[in-house]
Amino acid sequence: MKKVWILGGGIAGVEAAISLRQEGFEVSLVSNRDFVFIHPISIWIPTREKEFEDVCLSLDELANVHGFELVIDEVVKIEASKNSFTLKSAGEVLFDYLIVALGGEKLSYDGVENTISICGRPEDLLRIRDRIDELLFKGSGKIAAGFAGNPVDTTGVRGVPAFEFIFNIHNVLKKKKIRDKYELLFFAPMETPGQKLGTKAVKEFGKFFGKLKISTHFGKQIDRFEQNKVVFNDKTFIETDFTMFIPGRCGPSFLQKSDLPLSDAGFIKINHYCQVDGFVNVFAIGDIASLDGPDWRVKQGHVAEIMARNAAFNIFSIENNSDARRSYVEQINLIYMVDMGNSASLVYRDFQRELLVPMPVVGHWIKKGWGRYYKLSRLKKIPRFPGA
Ligand SMILES: Cc1cc2nc3c(=O)[nH]c(=O)nc-3n(C[C@H](O)[C@H](O)[C@H](O)COP(=O)(O)OP(=O)(O)OC[C@H]3O[C@@H](n4cnc5c(N)ncnc54)[C@H](O)[C@@H]3O)c2cc1C
Repeated sequence: MKKVWILGGGIAGVEAAISLRQEGFEVSLVSNRDFVFIHPISIWIPTREKEFEDVCLSLDELANVHGFELVIDEVVKIEASKNSFTLKSAGEVLFDYLIVALGGEKLSYDGVENTISICGRPEDLLRIRDRIDELLFKGSGKIAAGFAGNPVDTTGVRGVPAFEFIFNIHNVLKKKKIRDKYELLFFAPMETPGQKLGTKAVKEFGKFFGKLKISTHFGKQIDRFEQNKVVFNDKTFIETDFTMFIPGRCGPSFLQKSDLPLSDAGFIKINHYCQVDGFVNVFAIGDIASLDGPDWRVKQGHVAEIMARNAAFNIFSIENNSDARRSYVEQINLIYMVDMGNSASLVYRDFQRELLVPMPVVGHWIKKGWGRYYKLSRLKKIPRFPGA
């Protein structure tokens, strides 16, 4: 069996490593940090419902359990036509097969340093927590949350964690019986943010904003951020003491110097089998890949895992001279357990259906339980449900 190099130790890279080891490949995984950051459960760090460590899964432990090599280093260059990539410390590495799973990057905005994103670097979650703590200590304040998309790629958006953030903040304030001392605001440039989740979800969130007295500012393009202000293109603005803002997303900037084909948004162009256009032995999976499929397609953890398993299957097929291939587009769907502080709504979309199932109380705990399930099942301490 040939060796497969995986670049990136996030949800996609780890799933690819596990699947390839199951197929008997020798696998090396490169990551610039020694843990998987389990983003879906990181939303509770700012409200102190989860500690930072709860959201991290050791890559070293995973490597031991599944028998792959772990290399902690920074990928600085990819030259796919030479079957090579370059690491900051270890230098040039040659590969038989390569899977690129390095995630996405954020677009820049004027004054964005006055905000912090819940979808940024793991350490940023701690900075948000500190800012929330400061405002709790102060006893009053204005907290804003918002997100934006990428005008050239509708998948370059991550909005759900912004909804979850503001609902969770509301819930913490309510529990402390100080909700009336704080103003909560939500902004997004779209007229109907959350549209990809379906019309039922948009209606439900609209009702929620009204019920929780969170003021909304929709359909206004963001001009810039100032220290205590979000300024819109029409010169109106909102004043805030803290702004959590999730920028639109694009491909990592260092890829511009690689020879990989990139979309206008800088994501790696792939076919339905996750093979990078023009290369037989190079695959891209997860947030870094340019996705094809229905209008409502989004870059999600479970889509990243589908792509990872398919890439592993397709590499196995190529190595065994089989024509069998698995397409992520045929398997794509949208599943979100959107946390609402003390409840959750299950949102599901596929080619036939659009569902929204409110799950008072239990949904919140299912989402929290999923984090534990992810860790234990990936470490083989409990069995995995097929495809989950
Ligand atoms: C707050 C939040 C909540 C979310 N909630 C949900 C949810 O409820 N459900 C859902 O399905 N999805 C959710 N998502 C989306 C999901 O987490 C992502 O789609 C998924 O993490 C993508 O996995 P990935 O491996 O492609 O990228 P990432 O998880 O970003 O992993 C990329 C990895 O590559 C490493 N890396 C990057 N650059 C380099 C480099 N140059 N050299 C070496 N290593 C590098 C990084 O350290 C990282 O480990 C959420 C995301 C966020 C941020």
